[in-house]
Amino acid sequence: MTLEEQLKDQALAVGLDLVGIAACAPPERDRAALTDREARGFRSTFEEREIDRRVSPGALLPGCRAVVAAGISYLPARDTPPPPDEPEGLRGWLSRYCRGIDYHQILRDRLRQLAAWLQEQRPDAGVHVCVDTEPPVDRSVAEQAGLGFFGKSTMLITPTHGTWVFLGEILTTLDLRPDPPWTGTCGDCTRCLDACPTGAIVEPYVLDSFRCLSYVTQMKGHIPVQYRDALGNMLFGCDICQDVCPYNRRPHLGRAAGPELAARPEVGGDAGPLLEKVLHMTNPEFKAWFTPTAAGWRGKTVLQRNALIALGNSGDARALPLLLQALRDPQRPVIRAAAAWALGKLGHTLPQTASAAAAALAELLVQEPDPAVRQEAEAARERLGGNGS
Ligand code: SF4
Ligand code: SF4
Repeated sequence: MTLEEQLKDQALAVGLDLVGIAACAPPERDRAALTDREARGFRSTFEEREIDRRVSPGALLPGCRAVVAAGISYLPARDTPPPPDEPEGLRGWLSRYCRGIDYHQILRDRLRQLAAWLQEQRPDAGVHVCVDTEPPVDRSVAEQAGLGFFGKSTMLITPTHGTWVFLGEILTTLDLRPDPPWTGTCGDCTRCLDACPTGAIVEPYVLDSFRCLSYVTQMKGHIPVQYRDALGNMLFGCDICQDVCPYNRRPHLGRAAGPELAARPEVGGDAGPLLEKVLHMTNPEFKAWFTPTAAGWRGKTVLQRNALIALGNSGDARALPLLLQALRDPQRPVIRAAAAWALGKLGHTLPQTASAAAAALAELLVQEPDPAVRQEAEAARERLGGNGS
């Protein structure tokens, strides 16, 4: 067996689902695409700023000759139900990638095991493991290594696991033989572009990160008003463009994700967290429930603000007492502002809640010191119009 063949067997043995090899020479296409996104103002604040660093793996590992691209699937064989003792209630949507244990550590551990194996075979080999937060463009490297192809949604589409994969790399100074790229294509499909609620996929293969609801759920501060209706019940992440992709139909998929990536009961399993629980969670509860997942890194207030927007969008009278309570949050203007918007939306959709919503907003305005909250409350009262008087 060649070293490359042994490496691939070993990758499966350490729990990686996909593996391929690319030369350490990213195509100029990456630089052009990143430069174009930067010029159009589409690069999110979560992405590495330095384009040179993103397209030059050699900067991370001098003498880099090859990149081993690998992935793990995060689509489980079956959904996890919510805990049986949880009451009925309104639930929020968590993107599939953040329902289980945060994948970063799991993927990094497996890549490190593979890198250690490689160094056992070739003790003089230099290696460097990258997972998500490091500069290389994961999807592009994975495409070059034959793991899949770029879909119009900008996601990497793999033949066995669709888009439901976490990606990482091992840079190495070994001169490994590259794999051929996989020549899949979207054909004339445009489902992801048609389904995206905000038009964030502005054209095939181009994403405006600031319009993407996944980004919007992760931003701090007040959510721009034009995205609030579209958020529906999203607490963290979106997934719509993945759900509609024909490559993601379950019968096409390969090995299911391991149990460590299954949805945690603490976040309601695949049904999602109860919004009331999210609103009322203490700091220790937030740490226990969300910090182990990839949905915890922006903090408790971001999730609670999103829960209020979800309640406003619910059109359900059970949301009313929760919103009235949040409107009296003593310390966080962003929570009072979201509650004010949500009361306006709920009262507008559900007229029987309008007078209670209007009364609470009027009471708030008597003493509210924060100008942004006042503005939200006044806009909400205006929206309630005749319904609230
Ligand atoms: Fe659009 Fe949602 Fe996909 Fe973002 S994640 S591009 S908002 S469908
Ligand atoms: Fe390509 Fe269609 Fe999937 Fe979009 S939904 S990535 S166009 S196959």
